Amino acid sequence: MVGAGIARPISVGTIILGCTVSSAYMGRAMPAPTSEVTSMEYTLTKTNRKTIALYVRNGKLEVKAPQRATKKQIETFIHSKADWINEKLPKSINQQQKREAFTLNYGDNVLLLGQLHPIISAQGKLKFDNQNFCIPQGLNPQQIKDTCIKIYRTIAKEYLPNRTLEIAKTMNLNPTTIKINGAYTRWGSCSSLGNINFSWRLIMANPETIDYVITHELAHLQEMNHSPKFWAIVENAIPNYKQHKQHLKQLQKRLATENW
Ligand SMILES: [Zn+2]
Repeated sequence: MVGAGIARPISVGTIILGCTVSSAYMGRAMPAPTSEVTSMEYTLTKTNRKTIALYVRNGKLEVKAPQRATKKQIETFIHSKADWINEKLPKSINQQQKREAFTLNYGDNVLLLGQLHPIISAQGKLKFDNQNFCIPQGLNPQQIKDTCIKIYRTIAKEYLPNRTLEIAKTMNLNPTTIKINGAYTRWGSCSSLGNINFSWRLIMANPETIDYVITHELAHLQEMNHSPKFWAIVENAIPNYKQHKQHLKQLQKRLATENW
């Protein structure tokens, strides 16, 4: 599979706790709150895991801990990771703010096959007319986004399977089914039964990068792993595949910021 890596929180009995963390007291016993102490909230999920783990997602700190972990153990652990949190959290908060501030309006440009195209209001069926995303007038930003997604899905359902069959032919491979889904965290995936899935979001990438993802999934029909043998198949078909992996990372960041 090719992961898009857009983090989505899994809420399993989340408990919100207030936690005071002071950089001056990191790694020591919790001090009495003073004006220097900054307050930090985290969500705690207790599961059957063996160790405590921290995640920074969507501008928030998430803690996963074993059932038996005490509050003291958890907060001591958080303190020990203060440097990491102080590096990651502000960036994540900043991205979350951008995400919340992002809205789509008529006249804005959206990505399709690596090119920017304006959203315009037009009568009749919503469609992409090879130049513009044509949508009804009078929609609010959320409706504009939802309507654009409908257009993206329509294009993805035609483009991606067709292109997959073309590339499969050149590689002498036969996928069982090719489907388009709404996955956030994977650009594409391939099952052991030979079923290939692509996220409609992939249609925003440039054609060469899309070809890389398609080739990657098709290569899994031969090698159901990410072994050197697998990468040799990919490299043989797409010598500069590493460049496309970079493009996907950049696209993933953009999509996360725009909350697609
Ligand atoms: Zn893969």
